[in-house]
Amino acid sequence: MASVKQVWDKILLEVEANVSALTFDLWIKTLEPVCIYKDRLVVSTQTEAHFNIAKARFHDILKTATQKVFPTILDIEIITPDMLPAFEKYKEYELPSLNNTSFADEPATFISSYTFENFVVGKSNEFATAAAKAVAEKVASEKPSLKYNPLFLYGGVGLGKTHLMHAIGNYIKEINPKIKSIYASSERFTNELIEAIRNTSRADTMKEFRKKYRSADVLMLDDIQFIAKTTATQEEIFHTFNDLYLAGKQIIISSDRPPKEIAPLEERLRTRFASGVLADIVQPDIEMRIAILQKMCISEKVHINKDVLEIIAERITSNIRDLKGLLTRVISYASLIGSDCNDKEVVMSALKDYTDDKKEVITMENIASNVCDYYQIDIKELVGKKKNKEIVIPRQMCIYLITEFLTLPLISIGEFFGGRDHTTIMHARDKISAQIKENPVIASQIKDLKDKIMNK
Ligand code: ADP
Ligand code: MG
Repeated sequence: MASVKQVWDKILLEVEANVSALTFDLWIKTLEPVCIYKDRLVVSTQTEAHFNIAKARFHDILKTATQKVFPTILDIEIITPDMLPAFEKYKEYELPSLNNTSFADEPATFISSYTFENFVVGKSNEFATAAAKAVAEKVASEKPSLKYNPLFLYGGVGLGKTHLMHAIGNYIKEINPKIKSIYASSERFTNELIEAIRNTSRADTMKEFRKKYRSADVLMLDDIQFIAKTTATQEEIFHTFNDLYLAGKQIIISSDRPPKEIAPLEERLRTRFASGVLADIVQPDIEMRIAILQKMCISEKVHINKDVLEIIAERITSNIRDLKGLLTRVISYASLIGSDCNDKEVVMSALKDYTDDKKEVITMENIASNVCDYYQIDIKELVGKKKNKEIVIPRQMCIYLITEFLTLPLISIGEFFGGRDHTTIMHARDKISAQIKENPVIASQIKDLKDKIMNK
């Protein structure tokens, strides 16, 4: 038997991988698992305020993580501490063992927010989305076509492969609920198979396993690069694949790379996988990243100006999960300090400690050294007393950039600039900030410098 605590711990691991450390420590770790009630996991907040935030901002994230780890738990119920007595009587109820392999017909659960409507389409995923929609429509109308079989989606981490698979599942479930879709991560498929092979005490486990996977109208195997390299697993996939394919059933596979690059994959499987439609998803461009953030703001019911979203979108280029995580970080940070997400200073503070793995931490020193590099002047001159234009403008630019990237008291910035008064710092900042609006040369130099500072 698995306790509620064990269930919650597993979910926490999954959530932790998907949110920022700040969000995790502040809002997620402080939740208390209460019980399993019907098909939901009940968790309690410590205060009413925490409840409001957790419910509005983190319910979806928690639900997604839960469904990923425990497909049979359909939702998360967040409650306030004063509701605890009502759930007291369910505390004894425990989940069946997580290791107990059962291949009973469990309905496929797809994450309800992973729909085509919620998927932003741009150049980077246009073909993959069109192919996924075509497959979903064909299957739902019971007119499958060999041309789209199998559908092989590939692309880097966090670019929407799982989202598209769930979108196909959700679409089919809505249009034609008779159709049986099975979704499994390759890890899960492998684990179930190994369990079935090992479970010699029940002769029919292997039969059940086969029945489950081969009775599908649509079989989705996610992250096929994680499939076990053992002959037994590959053999089983090959036969599952053939049975379904010959019966005209749809197969959808995802991977982080194209079939020819999946190293120890049997040649006959590779050929099968590559025989239908291959569709890749690449990194989104800046417009698309902003569009994704705008869509997220709508669903989170927050209003954030485009220039703020741009700052966030510029930070993350390669992973949409991280991009969304960074927006969550800004929202939670602003609410934590009781401020507005449109206050740029707040946004910069929220992002201050955030660094992409590849990027260095931003400090006054490295902003100054970027500015010196750009204008070909010496750091001593930058912070010194000279008043000629060639030095004064870079100095003011540098001060402006420091106030944009870092939240530091103006006095400390003054100290860095050779003990200047805080009013001088304020003046420099406001002057450049005004000039950006009027002078396109200044505006473009600031943009160059920001890119340089952010290592782009
Ligand atoms: P992958 O399976 O490729 O690693 P996911 O499908 O898990 O990526 O996507 C990661 C996160 O990014 C999910 O929350 C997903 O909803 C979101 N996402 C990815 N692509 C898009 C998109 N085009 N529009 C909106 N959200 C997206
Ligand atoms: Mg995925």
